[in-house]
Amino acid sequence: MKTKITELFDIEYPIIQGGMQWVGTPELAAAVSNAGGLGMVTALISPTPEEAYKEIMRTRELTDKPFGVNLTILPTLKPVPYEEYAEKIALSGVKIVETAGSNPDNLVPIFKKAGIKIIHKCTSVRHALHAQKAGCSAASIDGFECAGHPGEEDIPGMILIPKTKDQIEIPIIASGGFADGRGLAAALSLGAEGINMGTRFLATKEAPVHENIKKALVNADEKQTQLIFRTLGNTARIYKNKISEQVVEMEKRKASIDELAPLVSGQRGKKVFETGDIDYGVWTAGMVAGLINDIPSVKELITGIVKQAEDIIKNRLQKIIS
Ligand code: NAD
Repeated sequence: MKTKITELFDIEYPIIQGGMQWVGTPELAAAVSNAGGLGMVTALISPTPEEAYKEIMRTRELTDKPFGVNLTILPTLKPVPYEEYAEKIALSGVKIVETAGSNPDNLVPIFKKAGIKIIHKCTSVRHALHAQKAGCSAASIDGFECAGHPGEEDIPGMILIPKTKDQIEIPIIASGGFADGRGLAAALSLGAEGINMGTRFLATKEAPVHENIKKALVNADEKQTQLIFRTLGNTARIYKNKISEQVVEMEKRKASIDELAPLVSGQRGKKVFETGDIDYGVWTAGMVAGLINDIPSVKELITGIVKQAEDIIKNRLQKIIS
């Protein structure tokens, strides 16, 4: 497959693994890159910029293919030295970075000076226009279906992707709700040059999480997610469980982040992934869980998606025309 995204990042298939807190480890990122996609090491899994640097170096030992680093800028319970992370990422020699969450303006010069191509993840057309102006090489357009932080405007990818395509020149990566070759073919039709997947990669053999999480995704339908933090202007789509229900109830009473913190902390979510207790904390999943029916290897997943998309494009769509 050849698109502007495969050419920009020198990868075989236009399939990108987005940043995932506690999940985007060197092992998973390398598995995605080795299978022909673009793996992404999630910087904030590492508690310090120095440790993030070491994890990037470790990834390089696991793959000789291109991979990227995700740096997400969102509210956190403890302050994060984003610029120090950015400096270490730039120093590592990595050539692709995915920024997400908020305006990356103060980080862009640090990355550009190091010759890094930046993908900025956007949940609105206006953010994509800004990313282009700031000098980003690609915009990842995250529809309302997505896992994690969909923004506050609730526009699904079906609208957001073509609408953005009409207004920006830089290549678009479609994000949120993608799991198979049908999604890839649809994304290409909407004007995207590739897809970004998170939840789908969570249910793979290589994902560094307890088997119960993967099985929970296979058993989940598309209604198994819930939005939290709406009252805080930091909406997050997560797997619907006892904690998410409790958080939403507390939000109805206008609970503050300090009151919610013991329930929602990332450290608690990390334990969910380690122990497999799906009700212990908050963990991120998208509506696409409803399309996940198996736990393949990363390679099986990527080759299956490509094969299905090729079949749709070459055979099904072609026949409609003739
Ligand atoms: P954390 O323990 O600091 O916070 C837990 C949750 O509470 C996060 O969703 C965070 O955004 C939210 N939060 C914290 N302070 C807040 C405030 N003052 N107002 C509103 N919401 C607040 O987070 P963590 O699990 O250690 O993760 C670190 C960061 O990475 C967070 O910002 C998180 O949102 C983000 N994240 C990134 C990815 C990714 O793709 N890289 C995925 C999930 C989460």
